[in-house]
Amino acid sequence: MLFDVDQGRFLEIHERLCAYFGCPVAFFHALDPVSELVSSLLSHRTKNRDSSTAFRALRERYADWDAVIDAPTADIEATISAATWPEQKAPRIQASLRWIREERGELSLDFLGELTTEAARAWLERIPGIGPKTSAAVLIFSRLRMRALPVDSHHHRVAQRLGLIPPKLDVGPAHAVLEAMLPSEWDTQTVYDHHEVMMFLGQKVCHYQGPKCPDCPLLDLCPTGQARTQGTTTSGTKTESAAKRALPRSGAATLF
Ligand code: SF4
Repeated sequence: MLFDVDQGRFLEIHERLCAYFGCPVAFFHALDPVSELVSSLLSHRTKNRDSSTAFRALRERYADWDAVIDAPTADIEATISAATWPEQKAPRIQASLRWIREERGELSLDFLGELTTEAARAWLERIPGIGPKTSAAVLIFSRLRMRALPVDSHHHRVAQRLGLIPPKLDVGPAHAVLEAMLPSEWDTQTVYDHHEVMMFLGQKVCHYQGPKCPDCPLLDLCPTGQARTQGTTTSGTKTESAAKRALPRSGAATLF
């Protein structure tokens, strides 16, 4: 795949967001990678507060991750009830932990730190149900601190509205497109900062419904924001069609 990336615009976006939110951003976790995997699975489409509550409940109730594998699934489901979809996450967590133990003979992912980031991601994505977001989260958020870019729903939405990725590109394949834009000299902290500030913008300004474009530090760089502010009707309603018209057809990031 080839991408025509306007790297100057990408860097301007990053620098403005870093100035707006403050970089470097402190890492919020330093868990071992198995624990980070469980935490990431719990966090899917769940508020941070609720996934943290579910994660703490698991840690408090069970002595270790082996005990989680061996527990009745209904008990795990009840323990993580603070998270969304505990009935799906409980068997997924147990199956993932079991897969690792059977593959490695122990419940440890520390060996991933000896691999390249690409090889470590490929290994993690062999676990059934684990995709690029979770593999990247395990590698960069855990104490492994490897240079991988997670793309959550906020990051994905902001990248779409900015025209960094094609409008219909799903979050899974968006990982490779957005990762290809990262300057090779960026270290793990800078990659982490980039993910965090894109996510912060999605959480605090570029909301799913009603993005606050007039308050956004990226308004002059954003085709969606330009269309929304220029396409405001006299009643104040933003026109979605105007936003779509302004998205670049072969602009900042063109997928071939
Ligand atoms: S200008 Fe509007 S649509 Fe564009 S990134 Fe900012 S808040 Fe989102």
